[in-house]
Amino acid sequence: MFWTGGCLCDRVRYRLGSALLNGRSCHCSRCRKAFSGSGSAYAEITPGSFSWTKGEDNLTHYETSPGWGMCFCRSCGTTLCGMHEGKVHGVTLGSVDGDPGVQIDMHIFVDSKAQWDHIGGDAPQFPEFPPNPAAK
Ligand SMILES: [Zn+2]
Ligand SMILES: [Zn+2]
Repeated sequence: MFWTGGCLCDRVRYRLGSALLNGRSCHCSRCRKAFSGSGSAYAEITPGSFSWTKGEDNLTHYETSPGWGMCFCRSCGTTLCGMHEGKVHGVTLGSVDGDPGVQIDMHIFVDSKAQWDHIGGDAPQFPEFPPNPAAK
């Protein structure tokens, strides 16, 4: 089983050889800007499972905090992945083709969500970080 994904203009494409992990949405003000929406929609990759299949040279990168960043298509602006110390850490759920095989299983930083944000579904909601310190 594998998954594929890419950007809006289709210049950049990737492939995932293993299932995604830890789907989540962070509603903090920084994630709202970074994802241009109500928050992040993101899941972690299994290490070694990710490869670019097209257009890697069309990516640009923004460092969000030391060691952490995000990659975008420089043509259409789609946010494709999160980076940690130069390696792909996870992907944006909206960039995956079809069913990514994971759902958002927690909402975090709900105390700082936008006034216009209405969080639906039955996934647990946490005011800030989740209680499990291993989960980011
Ligand atoms: Zn693009
Ligand atoms: Zn956030």
